Formats: sequence, C-alpha cells, structure tokens
Amino acid sequence: MAQQSIVTKNRIVDPEMIRNIGIIAHIDAGKTTTTERILFYTGRSYKIGDIDAGTTQMDWMDQEKERGITIVSAATTTFWREVRVNIIDTPGHVDFTAEVERSLRVLDGAVMVFDAEEGVQSQSETVWRQADKYNVPRICFINKMDKVGANFDGTLKEILERLGARPIPMVYPIGEESTFKGVVDILNEKSYVWGKDPTGVEYDTEEVPEDLKETVAKLREKIIEAACESDDVLLEKYLAGQKLEVAEIMAGIRKATIAYKIVPIYCGTSLRNKGVQPVLDAVIDYLPSPKDLGEIKGIDPKTGEEMVRKLSQEEPLAALAFKIQLDPHVGKLTYARIYSGVLQSGSYLYNVTKKNRERIGRIMIMHANQREEVDQAFAGEIVGLIGPKNTGTGDTLADESKPIELEQITFPDPVISLAIEPKTMSDQEKLSYTLQRLAEEDPTFAVKIDHETGQTIISGMGELHLEILVDRMKREMGMNVNVGKPQVAYRETISQSVEAEGKYIKQSGGRGQYGHCFVRLEPLGRGEGFEFVNAIKGAAIPKEFIPSIEKGVKEAMEKGVLLGYPLVDMKVTLYDGSYHDVDSSDLAFKIAGSMALQEGSKKASLELLEPIMKLEVTVPEDYMGTIIGDLSSRRGKIQGTDKRGHSTVIRAFAPLSELSGYVTTVRSLTEGRGIPYMEPSHYEEVPRGLVQKMIADRV
Ligand code: GDP
Repeated sequence: MAQQSIVTKNRIVDPEMIRNIGIIAHIDAGKTTTTERILFYTGRSYKIGDIDAGTTQMDWMDQEKERGITIVSAATTTFWREVRVNIIDTPGHVDFTAEVERSLRVLDGAVMVFDAEEGVQSQSETVWRQADKYNVPRICFINKMDKVGANFDGTLKEILERLGARPIPMVYPIGEESTFKGVVDILNEKSYVWGKDPTGVEYDTEEVPEDLKETVAKLREKIIEAACESDDVLLEKYLAGQKLEVAEIMAGIRKATIAYKIVPIYCGTSLRNKGVQPVLDAVIDYLPSPKDLGEIKGIDPKTGEEMVRKLSQEEPLAALAFKIQLDPHVGKLTYARIYSGVLQSGSYLYNVTKKNRERIGRIMIMHANQREEVDQAFAGEIVGLIGPKNTGTGDTLADESKPIELEQITFPDPVISLAIEPKTMSDQEKLSYTLQRLAEEDPTFAVKIDHETGQTIISGMGELHLEILVDRMKREMGMNVNVGKPQVAYRETISQSVEAEGKYIKQSGGRGQYGHCFVRLEPLGRGEGFEFVNAIKGAAIPKEFIPSIEKGVKEAMEKGVLLGYPLVDMKVTLYDGSYHDVDSSDLAFKIAGSMALQEGSKKASLELLEPIMKLEVTVPEDYMGTIIGDLSSRRGKIQGTDKRGHSTVIRAFAPLSELSGYVTTVRSLTEGRGIPYMEPSHYEEVPRGLVQKMIADRV
C-alpha cells in the first residue's frame, strides 16, 4: 500500500524515456507474481511478497489478497535502466474484462503472460483480441517453466495457431520442469543461469550449452529475417552477405514489434525468480514509448469534425481520465493519461465530455510503496489527479481554449442484477451514498431504483463481480446489507416488421386530450439498439409533438411488453398521425407513442433474449463426461474439447440463467479439481417453450 509521501519539483520528463505497459493474462497464469517480481527487480519494492501468502504489492485491497485476484486497475511507476515504466494494472478475472479494456486504451504496450503448461487459455484469447482492437504492440512471457508439463514449443505453436500472431523467440529455455535453470539470449548467444541467488537478482552469464547450439542458431536466423522484413536497409545489407550488428537487428525487431508484425517471446518462472529481467529489458528495447505513437485522433467539440493532436509537450493539454479510485489516504483519485501538453498543479482544465471546469489541485505519481507529488506532469505520463469533482471514466480533460474530445471508452451492459437493502432501515441513506461511490469507480456497475417495488437494484458483469462489490461495501464502508437472488438481465425484441396505431383521445367535457400516431416497427440486428425515424410528410402532426412521441416510445420500450424486460434492437418509424388544434398536448402524444409501441410489439412476434456465457472448463480427463453431461442439462452447447497437459478443456456456450452457482457445482463435481472460466458472450433467443413457462410462472 502506498503510504510514504514525497514531493518532487522542477522535474523534466523525456517521453522517449517512458513506457506505459500493462501485464495481461488468463487468471492464474502468474500476472500478479510477475508484476510483483518486476517491482522487486526494478528496485522500488524491497521485499518479495508471495501471492499465496497474500502479501503482494499491487493487491492492496483486503479481499483481493484473500481471493488472490487483482481487481482494481491502478497505475504504478517504477524504473528500469533509467526508463520510467508505468505499469497499468489489469485485473485477471473474467468478470472484469471491462477493466482490461479501459487499461488497454491508455497503454502503449503489453506483456502477455502465459502458463507454460496451460498454453493459450480462453481468457488469454479474449484479452489478446482486446489488445488487437486497440493496436497494442506486445511481448509474451511464457511463465511457469518450472511446472510439470511446461511446454515452451507447444505454447509457441498455440500462439501461432490460436492467436494468429507471429511469435519470434528471443530466448530459449535451458532445462525443463524441475531442471529449468535459465534461458539462452538467442540474439547475443549467451546463457543466463539463475540459481546462486534465491531472489534472482544475481545470475550467471555463460556460454550456450552445446546441445542447444543448433536450435539457437536456427532461431537467430529467424530473428534476423524478422528484423530485415521491416527494414529495407537492413535487408539489403543482409542479402549482400554483410554481418549485421546486434544493435541493428534490435532496431529492426523494435520496428516490427511496434508495427505489430511480430511478437517477441520470452520465458521463465516468476515464482522461482528466473527469467524476469530479460522481459524488463525487452519492455525498454522493443515496446513503444509515447513518442512512437506520434499522434492521437479526437473530435473538435465545437465543430464535431475529426482533429489530430501531436503527442508533444509543445501542444495544448489533452488527457483522458481512465480510472476513478477512492484512495484510503488521499481520497478521490482520478487516474489520467496525458496525451499532449504539460499539466500544472493548481490549474484549471476543461472536461470536454461533461462540459464543466475542473481544478487540478494536486498531481500524484504512485510508486509501489510511496506516493510522489509533482508540480507538473508531461505528455506521455500517467498520473493520479486530486481535485476533479465531476470527471468520470472516459472523460477528456483539456485546455479550455483549445479543446479536443478523445474517443470515449465504451463498456458492455451488465448481464446480472440483484435487489439490495440495508440490514437496518435507518441505513438507507448511507446505502445510496455507498452505492454511488462504488458506481463512480466502476462503470460496469449500475444502480437503479425499481419504481414499482421501490427496491434498490444493482447490476454488473457476473455473480462474482456483484459478490465482490457487496463485500467491499461491508469491509470498506461498514455497510451491512441483505441481497436478493441474482436476476439475469433478459431483453425483449421483435422478430417481424409491423405497422401499428396509437390513439389517445378523450373528449368528454372540459379540455380534452388528443394524440394520434402511426408507427412502423422493424427488427434490427443484435446489439444495434434503438433507432427512431420521423418520416411524417406534410403537417399530419406538428413538429413540436414529435419528441413527445419518441419519448413515449422509449418509455414503453424500457418497460417491455412480454415479461417486463427492456425492448432492444428495433427501428421505429413514425409515418402518420393526426392532431387537434385545442386538445393536442405533449402528454397526449407521449401516451399515443407508448400505446403504438405496445400495440405493435404484441403483433411483431416478440422474442425473449438472454445473455449467453462463453465457458471453458479445465478438468482432469476422468471428469470430462460428468461435466459435459451437467452442461447439457443446463442447455449448454459443447463447442469442443482440447487436451492440455494432463487436463482436458471443455469449450461451450451456455445461458447465464442456467449457471447460477456454477463455480461451486464444478468444484463439487470434480472434487475441487475442475476450474471453470466464463464470460458474457452474446444474447440469444430463449426457446419458446421456456418463455411460455416463464409467462405462466409469473401469473
Ligand atoms: P494471476 O491470477 O495471473 O495474477 O496469477 P498469480 O500470480 O496469482 O499466480 C497464480 C498461481 O500460480 C499462484 O499460486 C502462484 O504462486 C503460481 N505461480 C506463479 N508463477 C509461477 C511459476 O513461475 N511457477 C509455478 N509453478 N507457479 C507459479
């Protein structure tokens, strides 16, 4: 936990001397252990913690230690070869994929950690695709080389085949499993052997073992080829038969890595303190500095036109807030990536997204074991800001006179929700305050009041996600609550185009009501949301009433028609209607819009949609049949099975509604040896028979 505080003034930061990286992995691959070793070797953390004992540097929240998983995404600064390495922590658990996305947005490069026995696991594949989406150059660290079943070549093959990347080994393992002792640095044709120093700080540099010479020579050729492909001058020299210097080859590899043509591969064992330092060297040598990015795209908030900003200190300030964290020592901390300009403490910035001014009181840089307060921060840096009051995740902070709006961070919709109430009714106010704070930190967590029942409903990305939040309320805020059964976030949609009429006319005495409209409803593709088109010709309905109709339509969609779940993925076209000079009002048209939507939806073959989870269950082979049988009884669809070491991995899709308590079930079916992994994948229609049953159960 960051406790000590230091103040630094008049600093200068060269963007070339910064690396903003993330360490990403499938849960349990060793991300926390690797991060911790990195902090140790970079000299900022003085004691090697052990995740199993629950004392790691990055995991500063109590229950993270207990569960051995990292939840929050904080940025920690450390130094290697005088380069400032900012590690943006990415959570390892599936229920937090959104956290990974937000981190990827502000990283310049990533270290992907694999378990040498498990190879490319499902979540590695997910985060890999996410990293692709944000064009994040990466290097790989094949961890757990000491483990029985560790397979360097097998993992390489999977990186090639499953991830479609081009892996270029930069090191080769010496020994395997319990005899693993170090790596050959292929480019420099040297061996690094760990063992004499238990912390792994000191290691020996030796000759390449005789039996590896041939392999190493072949792999060295591959490195040279890869370097030449992205550098014509190098290629000419190579083809002319001239000797290439190591520095030249490294420059070529750097270019190819940044262009994401290749992925340099490293290996070792973090737990046994072997092979980590070459990865740190690779971060400096091959991953991009903020300067390598050149520029960032955004929108001119005044004209809505695209604009480009150079990532330079000379440019006006632009920063992206990517994480709000309630720090136990300094209060609300807004983590921001500065893209251009120089930020001064005590200055004012404009929140372009929310359109309000924010005072930047103090600027903090978080180290593993201390906080550093600085008076200015530069383009390329990642800092914690104290002061902003209304800035949320994904907001752009910029120079008010030259604003730019950077692309927002998008988050998936929650798939599960539950009702929550305080144990003592007098705590109701405290509950809303607590929930509001949590929602501020976590954009995938939503809170709402059900107006019909008056209940407070929280929703999130999975059972574990909500469980952890409830846990945090208790621990951090002393808030004891009762929670209801988790409810799946179903949705409704239509599967047919129809036309419908909405008529709300009351003309008995006094001032009447008159709203009347015709709409066409058409299904849209999954995830396309809602579209409203005004196709009224002439003056069938005066313009000022159109927004009321749209409002009525939207409200009816929110309420749902079939089972009370929100209607999604449809286009509503308003094409005709009529009005009354005296009796027409906003309210009458809103009601007419709502009636038309309900009426139309009933005729349009309503479907119920449910979230489908992507599952990967790793089990010893003997349990394969049991797990597949159980999944089939949960409406699961088996996609296939893979052999990994001594285990089998079952890949499947299954509806979230059938998976409540699944983690516990798998454990008990496999005597604790099965490991399930799941994440929201997409929405699918609920079978008709089941919908009928749900409707019947409701009545
Ligand atoms: P994370 O979930 O990716 O953060 O993984 P952790 O760092 O928490 O590691 C998961 C488990 O793997 C822990 O029990 C670690 O002690 C263990 N582990 C980490 N690195 C190694 C390694 O190099 N070799 C072996 N055998 N176990 C490791």
